[in-house]
Amino acid sequence: MSFLPRDFPKSLEKEAEMVHAWARKFAEDVLIPRASQIDQEVWDSSTKIPSDWIEKANDEGLFDAWIPRAFGGRGYSPWSYMIASQVWSEACLGFTNIMGAHYFAITLLSCGMEIPLLEKACRRVVEGRKNRRPYLLAGAITEPDAGSDLEDTDLIRVAKIRTKITIQGDTAIIQGGKIFISNATWASAFAVASYEDLKRPHQTATIAWVEANQPGLSVGKIEEKLGQSACPASEVRFDSVEIPIDQLALYSGHFSIPKDYQDYCELLLDEVLGNSRLGVAIMAAGVSRAIRRALTPYANQWKDEWKFARFGEILKNDEILNILAVEANRRQWKNGPQAETQRGAGLWLVQNLPTSLLKKLFSQLPPRKLRDKKLKQWRQEKPLEKTMYWGSLLKAGMSDLLMNSLDNARVLAGAEVWNDHSLPLEKWTRDAKLLQIYEGTNALNVIHVAKASGALGSRKLYELE
Ligand SMILES: Cc1cc2nc3c(=O)[nH]c(=O)nc-3n(C[C@H](O)[C@H](O)[C@H](O)COP(=O)(O)OP(=O)(O)OC[C@H]3O[C@@H](n4cnc5c(N)ncnc54)[C@H](O)[C@@H]3O)c2cc1C
Repeated sequence: MSFLPRDFPKSLEKEAEMVHAWARKFAEDVLIPRASQIDQEVWDSSTKIPSDWIEKANDEGLFDAWIPRAFGGRGYSPWSYMIASQVWSEACLGFTNIMGAHYFAITLLSCGMEIPLLEKACRRVVEGRKNRRPYLLAGAITEPDAGSDLEDTDLIRVAKIRTKITIQGDTAIIQGGKIFISNATWASAFAVASYEDLKRPHQTATIAWVEANQPGLSVGKIEEKLGQSACPASEVRFDSVEIPIDQLALYSGHFSIPKDYQDYCELLLDEVLGNSRLGVAIMAAGVSRAIRRALTPYANQWKDEWKFARFGEILKNDEILNILAVEANRRQWKNGPQAETQRGAGLWLVQNLPTSLLKKLFSQLPPRKLRDKKLKQWRQEKPLEKTMYWGSLLKAGMSDLLMNSLDNARVLAGAEVWNDHSLPLEKWTRDAKLLQIYEGTNALNVIHVAKASGALGSRKLYELE
């Protein structure tokens, strides 16, 4: 299959084919018929958010398909999520963002390897499908005065952070607020980043699982945003929200050596954001294919050479984006979460062990040992191989290329086609613009590329003028 890397194992091709066909069917039956309508409905009244997609996605099992089988999910792998994501993006980026924010939050919860906590949260999602009450998650990192800088291992040191966590015995209290949190409006729970010491965020970051009905947690109004209207983003406030410490997926108490903790936080920024950026890159390839498909039928009516030159640019970009999408899949496969399990014997075990045995295996893995192993591996890696580099390179490069295609499409289409809602070029442009902003703006991501290539030497980002 063209969307799979060449070194991809044959044993996983079946899942890739199945997920591709499944995602396409959902896109054709559910997303495409409603995408422009939903955009218009939210545009007319941003407080009215259509939840029909959430119910359908839940019934279809999309919220737990990529959850491990041992926790009741279907156990699909992150790279097959990338394949689905590209297909949904061809239909509506807003929907892909709903899904992306949900799985981003699950990834955050998995980062400390605290298996019992992860299992509890995952099982809620599975129960949500069974009792038809969606248990959607949201990842809450961005704060009013700290955006891109919270998504970089250097800049986080100087970020103006407000969300503080105080740990007292067996309880933790969160105070502060987050903004622009996708899914917040309908989320049943949040994966929240907060900091034990606001002056040393890089050394004191924590990730907590906080349910939306927790006293003190409140969700603000839906932001009026440019695009991806199907996925609402809102402010989330934490007013002395109290949780037991076993709801902390990651905090200093999990480590006996402070340096290990600091390195682990850095590793996570690299890994989690690097991978979610690969997800954003894939979204760009999906929209590109939609533009190509939408404009192709018009081509035989064109008489001017300049129009073919513009169209040629769109085709060229689309080919490049699809080649890069395969590279993004490959990077997810090689560096992504569960990368080790997906290769070799681990894969065989996950695919063939009965759930009861898998569960037993999971429950016997000591989180501390797993974290130590991860740290050791990370310290041995060379910077250029780090996920951060690939995530930033592909996210910034592919979303910029997509905007170039949309510029060409706008000129080609003229006002009439541009505003034609059955061919939503105008919607795609608003939706695609956000790919250049979230997961750290592209301006920051290109600096990551320079940083990972060694161009900054030993200097830190915040030392640049
Ligand atoms: C639709 C949408 C959904 C989102 N969903 C979520 C979510 O679910 N969860 C979540 O936590 N966050 C979410 N975000 C927040 C998103 O991750 C941030 O918007 C993003 O990281 C950028 O941060 P910022 O908006 O604070 O911009 P800033 O970082 O403040 O950037 C402002 C400007 O300064 C530039 N800039 C910043 N730093 C540098 C630098 N070092 N060098 C050069 N230029 C720089 C930027 O390029 C930009 O032009 C979402 C955002 C959007 C738009």
